[in-house]
Amino acid sequence: MTATSSVPDLITPTWEYAPAPEARDVVTIRPSHGLFIGGEFVDPADGGSFATISPSTEEHLAEVALAGPRDVDRAVAAARKAFTGWSKLSGTERGKYLYRIARLLQERAREFAVLETLDNGKPIRETRDVDIPTAAAFFFYHAGWADKLDWAGLGPNPRSLGVAGQIIPWNFPLLMLSWKVAPALACGNTVVLKPAETTPLTALLFAEVCQQADLPPGVVSIITGAGETGAALTAHDDLDKIAFTGSTAVGKSIQRQVAGSGRRVTLELGGKAANIVFDDAPIDQAIEGIIDGIFFNQGHVCCAGSRLLVQENVHDLVVDRLKQRLGTLRLGDPLDKNTDVGAVNSAAQLERITALTDTGEAEGATRWELDCPLPERGFWFRPTVFTDVGQSSRIAQEEIFGPVLSVLSFRTPDEAVAKANNTPYGLSAGVWTEKGSRILWMADHLRAGVVWANTFNRFDPTSPFGGYKESGFGREGGRHGLAAYLEPAEVDA
Ligand code: NAP
Ligand code: MG
Repeated sequence: MTATSSVPDLITPTWEYAPAPEARDVVTIRPSHGLFIGGEFVDPADGGSFATISPSTEEHLAEVALAGPRDVDRAVAAARKAFTGWSKLSGTERGKYLYRIARLLQERAREFAVLETLDNGKPIRETRDVDIPTAAAFFFYHAGWADKLDWAGLGPNPRSLGVAGQIIPWNFPLLMLSWKVAPALACGNTVVLKPAETTPLTALLFAEVCQQADLPPGVVSIITGAGETGAALTAHDDLDKIAFTGSTAVGKSIQRQVAGSGRRVTLELGGKAANIVFDDAPIDQAIEGIIDGIFFNQGHVCCAGSRLLVQENVHDLVVDRLKQRLGTLRLGDPLDKNTDVGAVNSAAQLERITALTDTGEAEGATRWELDCPLPERGFWFRPTVFTDVGQSSRIAQEEIFGPVLSVLSFRTPDEAVAKANNTPYGLSAGVWTEKGSRILWMADHLRAGVVWANTFNRFDPTSPFGGYKESGFGREGGRHGLAAYLEPAEVDA
């Protein structure tokens, strides 16, 4: 090449993506589903049903049985009956069932991923790479614990609790199921689980996996329905344990309901996490973490980094880079492998997000949103960033549970901690800095169950997860998570 050869101006190419849809035919959705009680699919006593739809298209996917109080009775009775045999099995034998379930989840991963994406609206990239593999990992991890419970920190021969009523939300349907079912079964308990009304299909496919794994009848029952079904389950007087993941409001009502009953409870509730960026942070890496923190899963994440706290001297730089990077996100068909942002899970959730973001503007914050077309059908919300956010404004205090980020600033580590902890919640937080000592200092001072450093939204079955304050109590995952399903052996006097 000679020095005189002309060098063209640097032009940033804009790539057009060809559609890359995941095949839908790996899934056969039955038009109607019964309740899974005592190892088989049965009709509900009252014969009721409800529809589940695809939030990205509003397509009707299936009719699902509506469980009433009599069905809850049947399911709890089946779990009670199964408990005797299951709790007496050796840990090694219980572990074999859990390993079998884990392997079946892996074998059927594609089917589960497509079904989850259809029923929930989240991108296939996430169900394929996060939800389903992490759910399988929870079963593998707890399969390993089943014969080692003497080392769970509760002394020799810890006892299982009995029958657990478990209620999960719609944001990570199969993953939340695995967080509930895997530890309960490993510890010798039996369960009755209610998935959320809008996302029952992967729980019902999981029921088929239980059949395929020859799990003894009644060890797992799945009852579908809305809030009333959940309330009937938590009110049942033959439960030994209630495990609930969902909103703080419902969590509080459950706690009132069980007060004085002696029943064990764990509550995994909402959050309003601070993602804190110091001026020495690797900015490009932090931008990825900020985006992963709040735009992953359309922001329907209890531990989402929904409040960005940026050190004042890098505030403008971070916000500019963030908007630039957000401009490359692709919103649309969740089954397309190139999609970053899928549909909001329901019309009701879209309404909640819209109402809360409107108050953000009314309270004086500056709104920026991704300039992108929205599909004509389905429930969609553009990734949104609010700057000039007052600390007491609703978008800085309340959980929006959508793709909405509120940006605040701070000057010193003390101020960052004070602002981060200024919330009724305490589920998670993120810290971005080059200094290890600062990470440790921040982690010591943040009132949050999980503190991520130079990363965000990482989930691992070995690591306990749970909250402080109004984010609930109890831990899921790790050795600490086992304590929620065991008690120390009684010692003869
Ligand atoms: P939600 O209304 O509390 O629902 C959660 C579950 O409880 C659903 O299965 C729901 O059934 C059921 N339910 C509703 N009312 C009930 C009642 N009175 N008694 C018993 N069960 C009842 O919460 P959501 O709005 O769907 O879920 C989002 C919330 O969950 C957010 O606040 C989020 O932060 C929290 N969350 C927390 C975690 C965590 O690990 N900490 C994880 C994920 C989500 P229907 O869906 O059929 O109404
Ligand atoms: Mg649905």
